[in-house]
Amino acid sequence: MSNPLRRPMIAGNWKMYHDLAASVTLAKALAAGTPENGPEVVIATPATALTVVAAAIKGSKVKLAAQNCHWEKEGAFTGEVSASQIKDAGCSAVVLGHSERRQYFGETDETVKKKLTSALAAGLLPIVCVGETLAEREDNRTFKVLDTQLTGALSGFGPSQLASVVVAYEPVWAIGTGKTATPAQAQEAHLYIRKTCARLHGEAFAAGLRILYGGSVKPDNIDALMSEPDLDGALVGGASLKADSFLRIINFKAPARA
Ligand code: PEP
Repeated sequence: MSNPLRRPMIAGNWKMYHDLAASVTLAKALAAGTPENGPEVVIATPATALTVVAAAIKGSKVKLAAQNCHWEKEGAFTGEVSASQIKDAGCSAVVLGHSERRQYFGETDETVKKKLTSALAAGLLPIVCVGETLAEREDNRTFKVLDTQLTGALSGFGPSQLASVVVAYEPVWAIGTGKTATPAQAQEAHLYIRKTCARLHGEAFAAGLRILYGGSVKPDNIDALMSEPDLDGALVGGASLKADSFLRIINFKAPARA
């Protein structure tokens, strides 16, 4: 029986796609199509679209996230936005440590932790991404990588400070490649993440922690993924860019959770 704290979440990562007009059109379609009693729905738009999308989803069940933030509240950090600024723009959540940020923009476990601290201080729900590369998986280092990334981001806090945190397991080899982890592979990693979080912050924290799967989630694989007991939702890239595919993912069919 899953923990009642673990309400499923479906989050869309729009990455660097869509102009303002397309963002508003998509956001309005999602706001209109998101069911009252379904999963928690979050969309992470480009920073430029945050305020217009916030207005487009106002009064709906859809929540807004940024894809990144800086760890300082303000200062001489050209090109960056702070946690309090994205909150001010209408966000209630933020994605941290996405593998594309780790790969292309020098994100490290240390910077993820600093950003997590500032996101929590701003009252944002952080979605912390972890996951191994193909080389790491083939070298049997998946669990070691997850351990290092989780410990790096989540240690040094008390479990109550981390109550809002959501972890996204995103195997790098499955992101944007069309290769999805099998439900069994995802479940194995999610269970390991939960056990690692139990070691870090206790059984009660781990039992209530929501762990999303990300990596080529599509309308035709979401139901099987969501049937696994330790999958509490999905972080969706490509398939979140169109209303019909994202709404089908939001309306996933899986065994009822207690
Ligand atoms: C992502 O951007 O986090 C992601 C999982 O992308 P995709 O669904 O396209 O693999």
